[in-house]
Amino acid sequence: MPRRRPRALRGEQPASRAWGPTPPFRIHGLSTGASLAVHRVEYLGDGTYVYPGATDRALRRYREFLHPPGRRPLYPRESFCSCTWCSFDDVRHARDVLEEVLERLPERARAELGRLVKPLDAVFLRRTLPDPFVHRRRWRTELWWYRCLADRSEWG
Ligand SMILES: [Zn+2]
Repeated sequence: MPRRRPRALRGEQPASRAWGPTPPFRIHGLSTGASLAVHRVEYLGDGTYVYPGATDRALRRYREFLHPPGRRPLYPRESFCSCTWCSFDDVRHARDVLEEVLERLPERARAELGRLVKPLDAVFLRRTLPDPFVHRRRWRTELWWYRCLADRSEWG
């Protein structure tokens, strides 16, 4: 099989001066305008929580965590690795990302993304259990999504 020349590969993904190397894409459930605003925030992001594609990934991860049908409680699980990829093993990281993006978005786009996140938050609160010993923990307990019981048995 002939190897493709780098130029040919580059040609498939034209760089956009305005939005960075990846062209903006529409986030499911968001208007084009809000998607563009998200992309801009991501492109200007810190690279840890906010980077291109992070919002879409966070939304998918959040939905995936809440997806199992039924009424059984759900337990967020700490990620064993803190790289940008593995961090999403912990659904609370996904919520961190969404919060960071929400804070940086202009008003209208923030309201739109907020309308996607709010019902997910409601399910999260319904299906997780409050940690009765939260006052003994110090790590990030100021954020409500860290105040639930989590599964630490594997790596804790
Ligand atoms: Zn990792």
